[in-house]
Amino acid sequence: MPREPVTAFVALGANLGDAQQAVRGAFHALAQLPQTQLTGQSFLYRTAPHEAQGPDFINAVARIETRLTAPQLLDALQALELQAGRERPYVNAPRTLDLDVLLYGDAHIDSRRLTVPHPRLWERAFVLHPLADVARDRVTAQALAKVHGQVIERLPD
Ligand code: AMP
Repeated sequence: MPREPVTAFVALGANLGDAQQAVRGAFHALAQLPQTQLTGQSFLYRTAPHEAQGPDFINAVARIETRLTAPQLLDALQALELQAGRERPYVNAPRTLDLDVLLYGDAHIDSRRLTVPHPRLWERAFVLHPLADVARDRVTAQALAKVHGQVIERLPD
């Protein structure tokens, strides 16, 4: 029997080269993943780097329905990061493309490779705002109020 599909949310971020193009390309690449459907795309948001260096970030969130397990999904996301030419010369270096698993169904995962829900999800406006675009029921008004002070610009569609 095939696994039931799971609704998962993936954070997309880029701040090198044509970051908007990298994020739009990542939506496209997510839609091509095996056993996976792209079912939601947030708006794109621009933010100043947070605990990182370099130009402004472009961030977004994708909703997917996937039969991949969470580790398989992480493998697939890391392969896409590599394809996008991400290099890691040092921690929090500017990146061509960063893909994180925010939520994987209702799973709580705490393994060597994977912490889900993503531990910093609730602290970051650049994650919560796009997540609210594609998962209104998962982001409360109180959660958005907590990140109210963080400067974030929604880009035109
Ligand atoms: P980063 O440099 O922020 O992309 O972090 C990548 C590292 O975080 C990898 O070694 C992953 O195994 C680990 N990691 C832990 N939890 C997650 C998650 N929810 N999504 C993506 N990477 C994760």
